[in-house]
Amino acid sequence: MAVFEHDVLVIGAGLAGMRAALSAQAAGANVGMISKVHPVRSHSNAAQGGINAALNEGDSWEEHAFDTVKGSDYLADQDSVEVLCSEAGAELIALERMGVIFNREESGRLGPRMFGGASKARAYFVGDITGQAILHVMYEQLMKSEARGQTPLRLYEEWFVTSLITDGDQCRGALVMEIRTGEQHAVVAKGTILATGGFGRVYEPSTNALICTGDGMSQAWRVGAPLMDMEMVQYHPTTLKGSGVLITEGARGEGAYLLNSEGDRFMKTYAPNAMELASRDVISRAEQTEINEGRSVDGCVFLDMRHLSEQIIAERLWQIREIGIDFVNVDIVKEPIPVRPGVHYAMGGVKTDVNGATPMPGLYAAGEVACVSVHGGNRLGANSLLDTVIFGRRSGVAATEFGRGVSSFSVPESVIENEKRKVQELLDRPKNGDRVAKIRLDMGVSMDKNVGVFRTAEGLEAQREEVKKLKERYAKVPVEDKGRVFNTDLLFALELEFLLDCAEAIVEGAIIRKESRGAHTRLDFPGRNDQEWLKHVLLTWTPEGVRTDFAPVTITKWTPAERKY
Ligand SMILES: Cc1cc2nc3c(=O)[nH]c(=O)nc-3n(C[C@H](O)[C@H](O)[C@H](O)COP(=O)(O)OP(=O)(O)OC[C@H]3O[C@@H](n4cnc5c(N)ncnc54)[C@H](O)[C@@H]3O)c2cc1C
Repeated sequence: MAVFEHDVLVIGAGLAGMRAALSAQAAGANVGMISKVHPVRSHSNAAQGGINAALNEGDSWEEHAFDTVKGSDYLADQDSVEVLCSEAGAELIALERMGVIFNREESGRLGPRMFGGASKARAYFVGDITGQAILHVMYEQLMKSEARGQTPLRLYEEWFVTSLITDGDQCRGALVMEIRTGEQHAVVAKGTILATGGFGRVYEPSTNALICTGDGMSQAWRVGAPLMDMEMVQYHPTTLKGSGVLITEGARGEGAYLLNSEGDRFMKTYAPNAMELASRDVISRAEQTEINEGRSVDGCVFLDMRHLSEQIIAERLWQIREIGIDFVNVDIVKEPIPVRPGVHYAMGGVKTDVNGATPMPGLYAAGEVACVSVHGGNRLGANSLLDTVIFGRRSGVAATEFGRGVSSFSVPESVIENEKRKVQELLDRPKNGDRVAKIRLDMGVSMDKNVGVFRTAEGLEAQREEVKKLKERYAKVPVEDKGRVFNTDLLFALELEFLLDCAEAIVEGAIIRKESRGAHTRLDFPGRNDQEWLKHVLLTWTPEGVRTDFAPVTITKWTPAERKY
């Protein structure tokens, strides 16, 4: 066992984590960054369509902010949205200067594409690999920190955080497992930033990678930091039949149509003005209604790109063409591709302010793990990458500043010993329970059925019971690989516990919120109820059970109004 020390510890090496590490280094901190996968395999790598900024002539950050607030169904905190949108232009240019080769028009100017819920084209992109392009550039920047005269970054690559360390009041770092050896260590820090991404794998199907298991949300929850608006789970309307692989919204941005089994462009019934570019919650509900009413094939509708030129597809949607051919044997140039709504994004997460600070001193969060809240009830496409870099940067600065006033801390031996015992107990379990994969699948399928696009009290109560039972089954889950070296069986078991905590919080939030807003549609409470529910739902884990609190939504300029598309 070893103890490592840093001014700032960043947990997660996706876009939020890398941006946080870069800004903490620039602010003078000695930074450690942990990732359970190689940094450029972080899930940000999968982001396809773009990143928003109101840079075009005729656009303004205020219009971007209004679209974001409207898209959020007025649940977003408007002061946070103002920070997100007013800082977007400078951040995008900073990324470009770092080396991200965004798409350019013939004139040589940066050229954005349209995205759902946006009144202007403002999603800047690199083909359909935007996340990958930004992630690789930021990784290069981190590797160059020494050349910039900064303290070099210590990268704990393929290390797994099992829990956070606190001294009772304040976060002091994290307990970790080196995956290659299975050895457990402590990393002590003055400021700790969670950048562990979302919980998409609570559900099946999901567009998220298998590693998106809500680790940071569960870990923060377990040390008493509140989770906010966990019921707000985004379904993306175009996920591929079977696998749930994402077909980017950029496809509809380029002009793709949605058709039902009768060949009808059904969005004219649900959003006659915005059509396929309505926000994701609106389109997901429309698709699910078409599917439920029998105008589908094998539970899917179709995305039709045949009228886009082969050249546009080759230039801007080449990955989507390959995905279609590889996964469902459909060439989008010749045939419509079957899609359905699938879980995509967590609008809720660890509650933070605009500097990433959680209510627990010393603990910060940024990116999909956090709820600032800029997305409210529904995130607009291309606003998440923006969220990662804006609030990643701000949390890096804030955690460094906080650390300057923090004295050193020695982690008690008993804390590390307890963690070792917990892992050993998992390894020692007899083989008489269900395996991880079975429990995980049952969780995902039942969450989709009972806490999906449409929700009812009956389904939610059934799922509350189901999660209880899944937790009981988890208590007996065996780890069949008893070794210590790269034990993925053990890691999957640890991740399942995080997923189940997230499932519990999602269900609780969905039971509490008795209205329909954004992605949360209660058939038993149709319609948004601003009188009673224009507020955030906060859930805090306590040894006695989950505590519920409410917080007001911050309104600055935009009074809640009916959404029309
Ligand atoms: C298919 C797809 C396409 C998307 N396209 C877009 C788009 O075009 N535009 C847009 O704005 N948004 C898009 N999104 C959303 C966006 O990509 C994500 O919300 C965002 O990238 C999340 O970044 P992050 O840094 O918060 O987390 P991630 O990139 O998920 O990184 C999480 C990091 O935490 C680490 N980690 C997690 N748990 C642990 C642990 N226990 N121990 C150690 N390390 C841990 C991981 O290793 C990883 O490094 C898309 C999402 C998907 C699924």
